[in-house]
Amino acid sequence: MKIICIGRNYAEHAKEMKSEVPTEPVFFMKPDTALLKEGDFYMPDFTKDLHHEIELVLKICKVGKHIEPQFAHKYYNEIGLGIDFTARDLQAQCKQKGLPWEKAKAFDNSAPIGQFFAKEELDLNNIQFDLAVNGQIKQNGHSKDLLFSFDQVISYVSKFVTLKVGDLIYTGTPEGVGPVHIGDELVGHLNGKEALRLKVC
Ligand code: MG
Repeated sequence: MKIICIGRNYAEHAKEMKSEVPTEPVFFMKPDTALLKEGDFYMPDFTKDLHHEIELVLKICKVGKHIEPQFAHKYYNEIGLGIDFTARDLQAQCKQKGLPWEKAKAFDNSAPIGQFFAKEELDLNNIQFDLAVNGQIKQNGHSKDLLFSFDQVISYVSKFVTLKVGDLIYTGTPEGVGPVHIGDELVGHLNGKEALRLKVC
């Protein structure tokens, strides 16, 4: 399986990163070794500025290539909550030199994933989600604020990359990204229900 991540999919997050609001989706990938399904997250020693990015995650349920937006809804059946951990210091260095970001984004365990919910249970334009660090809400997002909808993202990515069953698409983070430290406890909620819990060691 592969993990596809959408960048800058919320205008307020693009602004806080001092990035342009994109006119078409921006995506990058993480390998399967990035997935962290359970257990603690161990702080890597190569960064001094690890950031949380809470994101809604789509689970692909059907193989597809060149998917038209009007059919994209058939290609995912579950939505969950994940974190796109980012070594912000390394990312900034890569950006400055015009280099790829992989070492800042694709490292082992950089994609914790929580509980999934059946798509039918959710109103796709009305999903609220948040991330608390040590009990304090740091990020609060809403699917209605996505610059590119789930269907647009699936259609766009599938022009370039064949989607396969079990692939995950992290759909981008809202504003409020910030550093995590050893000892922090991260808890994510989707529509008020706890969907992700992680301890940083
Ligand atoms: Mg992200």
